[in-house]
This record gives sequence, structure tokens and C-alpha cells, in this order.
Amino acid sequence: MPTINSKLPATGTSIFTVMSALASQHGAINLGQGFPDFHMDAELAERAAKAIVDGHNQYVPMAGYLPLRESIAHKISSLYSTAVAASDEITITPGGTYAIYTAFTAILEPGDEVIVMEPAYDSYVPNIIANGGRPVCIPLIFPDYRVDWDAVRSSITPKTKAIIVNSPHNPTGSVLSHEDLLTLENMLRDTNIFLISDEVYEHLVFDGKKHNSVLNYPELFNRSFVCFSFGKVYNCTGWKLGYCVAPKALTAEFRKIHQFNAFCCFTPTQIALAEHLRNPEPYLRLGGFMQQKRDVFLNAMKGSGFDMLSSSGSYFVCGTYSRISNKPAMELAVELTETIGVATIPVSAFYVDGHDDRVLRFCFAKKEETLLEAARRLQSIG
Ligand code: PMP
Ligand code: GLN
Repeated sequence: MPTINSKLPATGTSIFTVMSALASQHGAINLGQGFPDFHMDAELAERAAKAIVDGHNQYVPMAGYLPLRESIAHKISSLYSTAVAASDEITITPGGTYAIYTAFTAILEPGDEVIVMEPAYDSYVPNIIANGGRPVCIPLIFPDYRVDWDAVRSSITPKTKAIIVNSPHNPTGSVLSHEDLLTLENMLRDTNIFLISDEVYEHLVFDGKKHNSVLNYPELFNRSFVCFSFGKVYNCTGWKLGYCVAPKALTAEFRKIHQFNAFCCFTPTQIALAEHLRNPEPYLRLGGFMQQKRDVFLNAMKGSGFDMLSSSGSYFVCGTYSRISNKPAMELAVELTETIGVATIPVSAFYVDGHDDRVLRFCFAKKEETLLEAARRLQSIG
């Protein structure tokens, strides 16, 4: 049998797979992997079911169902200040992760460097390596996980091909401010560096804050691939449908890769979303809805052995536990799953070198009863 010279020799199984498997083995409450435990938007589900029954079951165009791209363009023009063309600046993809991977494939050449801020969503680094690039990892500043822009600036070299940013941020819930985006825009001016902006949690922003999309910064957008996911907007992570917004010349190269990989995505959900997206109400309500869940969880965790950190967006809030344990985060996450039946994600899994500030990530995109029961169990330790 031939053996594979691994493209990812240092990569194991994703922490989400590991912790979800452990949770189900022990019948634990799963606050680990980020997905809702409540039903998706019922009206959208009905639209998708109807699209199948009505016979919308053949290929759509490679770039995506045009009315859906038009609805996205319309949504972008109502929320953000950059006008984008449905025809050649938006591509529908099988999820946000795929959009990010495809952007890397389109731009990276062997030896190119990509600046990644850690803790980082776990697909970025393997994506870069699999595409022949070299990740250059910079820590966010603990415990509020701000970007150290001086560190970013000083790690730019002639080999830097791209920077990837993620706001609202997984796993920490931090968000980039207007000043952050301006700093980035200034830093990249007069360079040939691309920006990949992971904005899958665009609507999950709390406490009256506003999402600072790269789509509000035309000069930045000119060098960007901005990636989104419908799974996070309509609580249907299993749909694996997303899109990439990029200027025409970048989209053309993105589509060259996409056309020979997925070619196009699942048709019925695109038909359903083309209509559904026209109503802004569900996505405008989402931030408040999820903020309430964050607050239910944080309230229920008061007085526990965890010191909860702040979360301004996403599905996630992190907590440190130095008052109750000095175990590494991975060890504690496994132990909590096995002993009290609550699965979480060790934030150390989002650093290439396993850097461990002793932090666990909790997903609060759950029913209130799930959050209260998980907090009750977490209160029992320490
Ligand atoms: N980026 C981040 C930061 C995420 O948390 C997720 C969610 N899983 C994705 C990208 C990808 O989303 P999708 O499931 O649409 O691939
Ligand atoms: N985005 C989700 C999380 O961070 C999970 C995605 C996945 O399982 N790959 O938990």
C-alpha cells in the first residue's frame, strides 16, 4: 500500500470532534462545539422543504443561485457601506470554512507567510499549511484578547501574503473596533498583502455594539475576501452554506478554485434563502436573542469557581479557573465531561504551541434549561 507523505503531519483530530464525541459517550451537556440545541427558524425550514417538493433539485450556477446572490447584495447595501455586485463579487460556498480555505488556495504560493492571531479558529493554520503557506502566529492580549497591532506590524516580512482576522471572535467573543479596522487599513496601505476576514458571527454582537465589517472600509475591502455563514444566522449549522464577498478580480480567482472543487452548492436551501433573506427582521433580532442567552449563563455562573471573561459577540464566552484547579485546560475539559457531565472546549487547543492560560470556552447558543443545568453542575465543583 502506498504511504502518504502527510501535508499535515502535526495535525490531529479537530477539538470539536474530540469533545463532541466525549460528550456523547458520557451523555454530557455539550457546551463545547458551537451549535444551537434549539430549532432553526421554522419559516426558513418550511421554505427549504417546499423547494425540494417543488422540484428545485438540480444544479444552480457555479457562483450560486443568482436571486440569492442578489438578496445578499441587497442585504450588504442596507447594512454596510460598500456596494457589491451579485454577478461577480459574491460566491455561494458550502459553508464559511470552505470559503476561507478556497481564499487561501487562490492566493497562497509555496513559502508565503500568513499572519494569524491566536487563539484562532482551528481551521486556519491547517488551511495555510495544506496550501503551502507558513502561519506566523501572534498572540491576542490576554485576558481581553485585544489585537497587539505593534506585534502584527513587526511580523510583516516581504513574504507576508495575507492576514486573517475574525470578528466577532471565536473562541473569545472579542470584537474589532473602528480604530482596529483603521489601524489595519493604514498598516496594509502600499503593501500587496491580502486580508481574509472571517465574519460568520456578523449579527452576534452584544451590548449595543455594532459589527465593524471590512465591508465598511472600501480601501480594505479592495484587498479582501470576506467570509460569511448562513448556519450562524439562522441557527442551522448543519446546512453548511455560506458565501465569500471579494472584489471582482479576487472573486475571479476564487471561482477558478471553487468551480473544480464543489462547483456549486445544495440547491433547495439557496432557493429558500433567496426569499427569506429579504426580511431583515430575523437577523436584526439575533444579537439581542443571543445576548439574553449569554446573560442567563453568566448570571447562573455567578459565585462559581470560574472567573468569566467578557464576551461582546459570537456564541461563546470564556472562563478561567485558577481558583479551583491548576490542571491544563485540556485535562480539565475532559475531567468535567466525565465527572459532572459538562463538555467545554479548552482554549489551548486554538494555539499551535498549545499555549495554556487555563481557559475554557463555553457555547451559550443553547436553550435556557440547558444553560441553567450546565451552570448548576459547574457550580458543584471547586
Ligand atoms: N469561522 C468561525 C470563526 C466559525 O466559528 C465557524 C463556525 N463553525 C466558521 C468559520 C465556519 O462556518 P461553517 O459551518 O459555515 O463552515
Ligand atoms: N464553529 C464551531 C465551533 O467553534 C464548530 C465548527 C466545527 O465543528 N468545525 O465550535
